[in-house]
Amino acid sequence: MKLFAALIIVFMCVISFATASDATLSSAGGNLSTKSDKKDDLPKIAILYIATGRYIVFWDEFYKKMEQNFLSDYPKTYFIWTDATDKKFPSNVKRIYQKQLEWPLITLKRFEMFMEQAEQLKDYDYIYFLNANMLPMRPVGDEILPTEEQGITVVMHPGYYKVSNNHLPYDRNPNSEAYIPLGQGKMYAMGGFNGGRAKAYLKLISDLNQATEKDAQNQIMARWHDESHLNKYILDKNPLVLSPAYGYPEEGYHSLIEFKDNYKMLILDKRKFGGHNYLRGIIDKPKP
Ligand code: UDP
Repeated sequence: MKLFAALIIVFMCVISFATASDATLSSAGGNLSTKSDKKDDLPKIAILYIATGRYIVFWDEFYKKMEQNFLSDYPKTYFIWTDATDKKFPSNVKRIYQKQLEWPLITLKRFEMFMEQAEQLKDYDYIYFLNANMLPMRPVGDEILPTEEQGITVVMHPGYYKVSNNHLPYDRNPNSEAYIPLGQGKMYAMGGFNGGRAKAYLKLISDLNQATEKDAQNQIMARWHDESHLNKYILDKNPLVLSPAYGYPEEGYHSLIEFKDNYKMLILDKRKFGGHNYLRGIIDKPKP
């Protein structure tokens, strides 16, 4: 009888162990599936990038550093407007053919280019545009995501940090859609890094496409092209404003000394790549 009782106990133990391991397995499986469900719940990020002509030189390092450091917890899809047809891109990159346009049309017409992809861009939660020579050198995370109320994210231009508003290089031509009267405006945003919640940023793209079109019809070129229009757009809005730590020039400015050792986004010095005019295709030889 004792033996029978012992056998029953052993049998019960085996059963309960098997049930426990099943539970562990299924809970591990459950976790895995929860994890992948969670991945689907993560905000989807679209990165907009233009690299025509010689600007393609910046792409490889840009992509590498972006994957490492830029909103790296979230899935990113890159939209690259380029004429580099023989280049292979990773699977999370969508190439859009864009012929080289004369400077400054290639930068000014960005809103028109982005508008053509508006339907696709609606599938994302956040959209960010970055200049070709921007590099995230340290982790850039949720601090760049604007609230619903802010909608958009802009970065203070490193050249005009702490400059009083009448000295900011806004467009002062009253006939331009980018016009800002003296006395108005609090800060000057750089054109090379901005973005936001998809809905708000798509509105920005659409409105600035119309504004740049209108100027073109009136044969007006805003002082700093797309950047002037961006500054006009945010004049009566309340965007998330990031410090020049998110647009720190490689050559370093004395006024930005506080960001020297902790900046996040580096603006590569174009002189190391032949200079502005060489990169833009205005001259044929790199300027030493
Ligand atoms: N760009 C380009 N090809 C060109 C000129 C400009 O792809 O020939 C794109 C590129 O993304 C670049 C952006 O336009 O970063 C702005 O141009 P640039 O950097 O020359 O202007 P900056 O920011 O120096 O005023």
